[in-house]
Amino acid sequence: MSLFEVSSVGKSFGGVRANDGISFHLKSGELLAMIGPNGAGKSTLFNTINGQLRADQGSIKLDSRELVGLRPREIWRLGVGRTFQIAEPFSSMTAVENVQMALLSRDRKLFSFCSRATDHCRDEAMELLRQVGMHSQADRPCSVLAYGDVKCLELAVALAHAPRLLLMDEPTAGMAPRERNDMMALTRDLVVRRGTAVLFTEHSMDVVFAYADRVIVLSRGRLIAEGTPAEIRDNAEVKDVYFGGGTTFGQQRAKAKVA
Ligand code: ADP
Ligand code: MG
Repeated sequence: MSLFEVSSVGKSFGGVRANDGISFHLKSGELLAMIGPNGAGKSTLFNTINGQLRADQGSIKLDSRELVGLRPREIWRLGVGRTFQIAEPFSSMTAVENVQMALLSRDRKLFSFCSRATDHCRDEAMELLRQVGMHSQADRPCSVLAYGDVKCLELAVALAHAPRLLLMDEPTAGMAPRERNDMMALTRDLVVRRGTAVLFTEHSMDVVFAYADRVIVLSRGRLIAEGTPAEIRDNAEVKDVYFGGGTTFGQQRAKAKVA
């Protein structure tokens, strides 16, 4: 049985159908990529899943539990995590303190944070940093970390409450190709070991095809294709709608670089 089930989800903004009858599912330990051109409805779907937006129609279930109508905090507590850019005020804190903050929040002790943060779950926070390869940087302020390291730290922060489903909006944006592969290999390794399901958006088709177990394709609010990376690569409708017909994925990337 699937861990996560999205059924006929719809969300409109005025006359714009940002999500229109979207259905898909995810199993534990599975990496599902969501691709589609700008305006396809990817961010809307992310925000509907995590409760920042409320679906107009349909159902979103984690372990048979309905998420539509719940608040973001409740959805997070049920096990839907997401990677964030580290929030501004936290950039003066060290890497390990950021993870400790997340562990405090998990343990619902946020309000006593100031007095307890330096001690709370330091060993557990260090272990999470070790898992993302960041333990040697634990005591450095986030403001001095390299971009790729901040992204790894985000992953450690997201894993702090052991999500069952992790939402990652362009986890490799702004990274060099080598860093991208490292980041996705790390994600793959961690989630498969933990049995976490991952839904991620990604512009780089190389990354999608190398790391996704399955791919869903959105266009104008609708899910137009679903399949393995190989099936999506060969899907005529995807080529037509997503890439404007005729062009290969490689040509599309070259065009995007020039633009
Ligand atoms: P993507 O993330 O795939 O680029 P979005 O989900 O951001 O797509 O947008 C899907 C459509 O919904 C677009 O036409 C966009 O203009 C519209 N949209 C998204 N958010 C809002 C909003 N808050 N208010 C009005 N229209 C929105
Ligand atoms: Mg978006």
